[in-house]
Amino acid sequence: MTIDRRTFNKLAGLGAVHALSGKVSSSGQQREPSAGSEFASLPASHGTARIPPRAVEWPAQTYRRLLVDMHVPDWDDRLLARFDAADYVSTIAGAGFQSLMQYANSHAGLCLWPTKVGQMHRNMKGRDYFGEVMEECRRHGLHRVAYYSLVFDDWAYQAHPDWRVVSPDYSEPQRHERAGAVCINSPYPEHALACIQELVGNYDFQSIFFDMTFWPTICYCPHCVARYWKEHGAEPPRVVDWKSPQWRTFQKTRERWMREFTLSITKAVKQTRPIEAYYQFGTFFAPWTVAVSLEQNEASDFAAGDFYGGAAQFSIVCKAYRSLTRKRPFEFQTSRTLNLNDFETTKPFEQLALESLIPTIHSSACMLIDAIKPDGTLNHRAYEYLSQINALHDAFEPYLGGEMLADVAIYFDKNSVYDPDANGMTAAEATKNMWGGKLPHRDAAVGAARFLREAHIPFGVVTNASLDQLSGYRAVILPSVLEMTAEQADIFREFVRNGGSLYASGVSSMSVAGEGEERFLLADVLGVRYIGKTGGRTAYLSGTDRELFETIWPQENLGFRGPMVKAQAQPGAAVLATVTLPFVDPEAGTALNSRFAQIWSDPPAPHAGSDPGIVINNFGKGKSVWVAAPLESRADAVDARVFELLLKRILQPPFKFEADTDPAVEVTLFHQEDRHRLLVGMLNLQTQVPAIPVAAAIRVLVPSGGKVRKVSLLPEQKAVEFSHSGSYVSFNVPEFKLVRMALVDYA
Ligand SMILES: [Zn+2]
Repeated sequence: MTIDRRTFNKLAGLGAVHALSGKVSSSGQQREPSAGSEFASLPASHGTARIPPRAVEWPAQTYRRLLVDMHVPDWDDRLLARFDAADYVSTIAGAGFQSLMQYANSHAGLCLWPTKVGQMHRNMKGRDYFGEVMEECRRHGLHRVAYYSLVFDDWAYQAHPDWRVVSPDYSEPQRHERAGAVCINSPYPEHALACIQELVGNYDFQSIFFDMTFWPTICYCPHCVARYWKEHGAEPPRVVDWKSPQWRTFQKTRERWMREFTLSITKAVKQTRPIEAYYQFGTFFAPWTVAVSLEQNEASDFAAGDFYGGAAQFSIVCKAYRSLTRKRPFEFQTSRTLNLNDFETTKPFEQLALESLIPTIHSSACMLIDAIKPDGTLNHRAYEYLSQINALHDAFEPYLGGEMLADVAIYFDKNSVYDPDANGMTAAEATKNMWGGKLPHRDAAVGAARFLREAHIPFGVVTNASLDQLSGYRAVILPSVLEMTAEQADIFREFVRNGGSLYASGVSSMSVAGEGEERFLLADVLGVRYIGKTGGRTAYLSGTDRELFETIWPQENLGFRGPMVKAQAQPGAAVLATVTLPFVDPEAGTALNSRFAQIWSDPPAPHAGSDPGIVINNFGKGKSVWVAAPLESRADAVDARVFELLLKRILQPPFKFEADTDPAVEVTLFHQEDRHRLLVGMLNLQTQVPAIPVAAAIRVLVPSGGKVRKVSLLPEQKAVEFSHSGSYVSFNVPEFKLVRMALVDYA
């Protein structure tokens, strides 16, 4: 560990933290010259940031976590041969991490502890890498988590060919993939359970994390086929068809098998020692192919998983994890390098700082992922870098916690994460693109999160596994939800009847496919009856409402690429826009027949259509708005304006907070009721770095009966002026570059 004197001075005290949080000089007028610019000029800034030692509890106060990827086999004598637990742990502890998730095995399938039941990494040569790390962690006060790779196990794949997963086309993944996967319906689980029980019984780590508990393919191995015959008396189907009960049964069975497998692992862990067990759950966001249901979360004490999709995705993931996690904090994971396939290219400092701070403004833990060098040593320079990220976090952590306050919930329905137009595709075709494909519900949910974040409307997430949390919100967004059960529809109906607001787009509230006639289960709430689809490649919404028409200025219509829902408005419902089709069917025109209205585009028909496109309806004490297409799945500014307009038509102030600031700034609000204070988080999620500093004017709804005593900016606890306007307290936040927090103390 090297500490350059100049850098040390810069990072200690007023350095990293205050510069990046945009420290303002005492006059309040002048910003310090080029605040934070030292980080924009990296790699000039060598040196390890000094972070004052502070004892923290596991898991509640452990926010800075590390995982070092060690998927290293042993075919070469040099692999992992230079592993030095003392240097490894002291480097990690010296960089300011509070916990280490240590590999007990890896996708290579080799155990890093002396085992009687598994296969040891031969370059350990009689040593106990895992045990040495546990010992060093105790010496340095690092909390200890074991990492264990399930399903992805190269050793088992090679040693037991009959355990392998079998793709629908019987292709041989070993020809193009490095990680061999074995099937949970083979004898593999017995082997895994024996290893896990030995590990949990012999060491005293505080929690264990299981990676890769999903289906890497749609498995048709003899074990799966036999179990399916035993349970259902039939061959597992091989053609994707969401309208077919056989196909839906097969999908539900795959989900149940994986859930039961994880539950059996958790049970074995807790019978051996009462510690927390948790699983890779980045898959909660994955397509149907990997067959992970939200109910699989029952096996996990914490929601956790790694993501690489940027700010809009990270933000909705953090809110979904808050909704799903059984214990707090949840654990958001992302890598130091651009992604896990890239060993060296490190994210620019501000990008990594911002990404790692997204869980922080959600009062949760960030796990950074690094990778070991083949010989078993660390890149020490990377830990100087990571220490500077950790220094930035350290200053805010003592203030985190509480309940997130929000007005609007985005409904994420895991059972709708498929492509309804893919019926007829073979399972073999589906497995060619396990993680991709068209996913209209997920796209619309992420888009809604972006619109709400940029409009500074306080929002959270509820899921089909956490619908009981809906009562904590005033409004709910149903973003192109592909299907709904009668029980779910009843929950939304009662929510609106009791005064809630509901936004629904496209086919949202459609009955489950294959169960009778296609219809909107919420037709009474939405004020529209489902008829079918209309339009093809392009359709338009034509506003009949004055304010809507002004909102889309200078446009005359709002275009949407894709079909819309054809519906009939019920008596009493207000139609704000109608669906207008193109002048001529976009598919009709060719160079030979000239049947088009414009060569490059498909302009709307000269007169607006008559089918309802946007409908507002009163139901019980509440209101709903329905849009014939999921405009929130588009990124255009005009769609964002219309979305916000429609939401504010059905949802009245006061909002939990209001913010006048750049759309890039994400604002969060937490209530720490026991301490009579509110915590405001502000993160400048600009996509271009270095970020341009921004200021903010914030208004926060004060809990009823409360009187604000003080507003202070974090991390330096600098008191700022505030004023009351109605139920709100207002204050200004001077320019900041990356992150700011504010505490509102009330009595
Ligand atoms: Zn199988």
